[in-house]
Amino acid sequence: MTERRKLIAGNWKMNGLKADGLALASDLAGRLKGAGAVPFDLLVCPPFPLLFPVGEAIADSALALGGQDCAAKTSGAHTGDVAPTMLTDAGCRYVILGHSERRADHGEGDALIAAKAAAAHKAGLIAIVCVGETEAQRDAGQADAVVSGQLAGSIPEGATAANTVIAYEPVWAIGTGKTATAGDVKAMHAHIRAELDGKIAEPAKTQILYGGSVKPGNAAELMAVENVDGALVGGAALKADDFWAIATSCR
Ligand code: PEP
Repeated sequence: MTERRKLIAGNWKMNGLKADGLALASDLAGRLKGAGAVPFDLLVCPPFPLLFPVGEAIADSALALGGQDCAAKTSGAHTGDVAPTMLTDAGCRYVILGHSERRADHGEGDALIAAKAAAAHKAGLIAIVCVGETEAQRDAGQADAVVSGQLAGSIPEGATAANTVIAYEPVWAIGTGKTATAGDVKAMHAHIRAELDGKIAEPAKTQILYGGSVKPGNAAELMAVENVDGALVGGAALKADDFWAIATSCR
């Protein structure tokens, strides 16, 4: 059986000012340092203005830094956009791409997400590519087909297990307190694993995260599901105690 290390990623979304971000990241970095060897990697993805201060604060720790988005372009006249190399310059190793809130709020489609992921790879970033169905799509029995289509469209040429992570996030479970059942997560992650064949080099080594209302109370069950290689956490990533409890539920 292929061993995949767990990745616990915190998506802070549009929350917190500098003091909040520094306090949260420093707390987590301190816990990691004190814990010694752990069976997971821990990642925080703050809003753009906090990347430099947080990056500096955690530079000598094992806590990893990521962006919540990046541009597909490398530089130039693109007001409001952030280039992948600007993320690496701030100390980022990861970038979240295609989050359902970007797909819904900014009309991002699969082709743009694939272009962003390709640009992220070129800059040396690991792209966390998000996929997931809406409640209506699940109720209509389309969940597998929707996720297959998103994977086919959002994963760029040159994707490997080393530069790409997939996050399965059912849209109806994000920020709602509803979570997919362990059985549904197991079935979808197996489906995604099979779909990665031919799209990512070394599919068996590719990490597939689950996201959607992961909390300390449900993390152990979800993280124990076959083919679940970690979590993408929103709300619970804003509290050090909760985020740490989720991470330490990994075996
Ligand atoms: C997310 O934003 O990716 C997410 C999963 O949020 P939450 O954990 O709050 O559902």
